[in-house]
Amino acid sequence: MRWIVVGGGLFGCYAATVLADRGNEVILIEQGSEFLGRASFVNQARLHTGLHYPRSIVTASETLASYRQFRSRFPTAIRDFTQIYAVATHNSKTTPSAFADFAARLGVPTEEVDPHRWFHRGTIARAFRVEEPSFDATTLRALLTDEIRSRSEITVTCGVKVIGGTAGRDRVQITLDSGEVLEASGVVLATYASTNGMRTSLGLEPFPLTFELAEVLTGRVSPDLADLGFTVMDGPFWSLMPFGHSPDVTLTSVGLTPLRRAKGEPRFSCQDERDGCNAMHLADCTSCPVRPPSAVTHQLQQLSLFLKRASSFSPTGSLLTVKAVLASTEVDDARPTLVHKEPDKNVYTVFSGKVSTLFELDRELP
Ligand SMILES: Cc1cc2nc3c(=O)[nH]c(=O)nc-3n(C[C@H](O)[C@H](O)[C@H](O)COP(=O)(O)OP(=O)(O)OC[C@H]3O[C@@H](n4cnc5c(N)ncnc54)[C@H](O)[C@@H]3O)c2cc1C
Repeated sequence: MRWIVVGGGLFGCYAATVLADRGNEVILIEQGSEFLGRASFVNQARLHTGLHYPRSIVTASETLASYRQFRSRFPTAIRDFTQIYAVATHNSKTTPSAFADFAARLGVPTEEVDPHRWFHRGTIARAFRVEEPSFDATTLRALLTDEIRSRSEITVTCGVKVIGGTAGRDRVQITLDSGEVLEASGVVLATYASTNGMRTSLGLEPFPLTFELAEVLTGRVSPDLADLGFTVMDGPFWSLMPFGHSPDVTLTSVGLTPLRRAKGEPRFSCQDERDGCNAMHLADCTSCPVRPPSAVTHQLQQLSLFLKRASSFSPTGSLLTVKAVLASTEVDDARPTLVHKEPDKNVYTVFSGKVSTLFELDRELP
């Protein structure tokens, strides 16, 4: 069969290899000039081991299983470091003892450490050294690009945007902004923040999503913090950790990373000032000349409320992209990956919640 995959992020690239492995011919279409340029690059790069989900042991256990699979599939993309999970004294949705019990039930080794070594007194109730690395998107991009280019079954079209199409029982037509119309027996939509734009342009119902214009700050830390990551649990707190193999770290905050929020479609006021960026087609945010002001000052203030050595973090940049979340998982942070097949049509929509869930595609694609 001939398949079209729309979207050359991590999930679209991997979907193309899965379909090719199964004997299909695949056309992979990415609007950018290279793969993994949007959410697959602009994120915190946390390779979740499950510890982020103290309110759902089921999600945590599934996440741990997929973490192990991801680690063994892409060993060179893993950046190990000392990750400290710190339970905040105030406003945490979990208690220190509940977190310790949860980690023990999950089976991820933890070692309790003295929070006062890094945090101001009174801010952190208990802290644990845990296993949770980051992934390097640049390495993943190189690995997947090499794999895709070496496969004669996969044809790559970069720098071209899908603008619409039609889908029947066993025939789809996909229209490109170049005017070309491609035909195939099936299509996989892996466009993440543009999921609803893509679905409606094919006459399909949108998913119930919420959107954030999300800012990931990058920076350098002094050598004493270079191989450390900090995650303050469980609520509107912050994380600071190595950004894959790069010399940078990322600083994010549950409350401050989203600069803007939107429900249903990714519609933000900055789009009024930018040609070619709208709820259907999102332009690149990091390089956007009309991006909203950064929250760096507030992020630094929040960091210094907790971390004794906050001044050792110097910002070097700010990455911006649109984050999409299934409305139903906002409450428990579960972030599953959805692979949805339209009844009676060979149309699959992949909506990715987190990177390690990639192998859902092995199970769910035909
Ligand atoms: C701020 C932020 C922090 C996050 N932190 C983490 C984290 O720490 N750990 C974790 O596991 N997950 C995290 N995530 C989630 C994770 O990044 C995503 O689940 C994952 O990267 C999505 O991959 P994707 O391939 O589906 O999407 P993307 O990487 O966004 O790929 C979609 C691709 O589709 C292309 N595209 C869109 N429309 C069209 C079109 N019309 N024609 C052609 N191409 C098109 C885009 O250019 C893009 O390359 C985070 C996400 C964000 C935004």
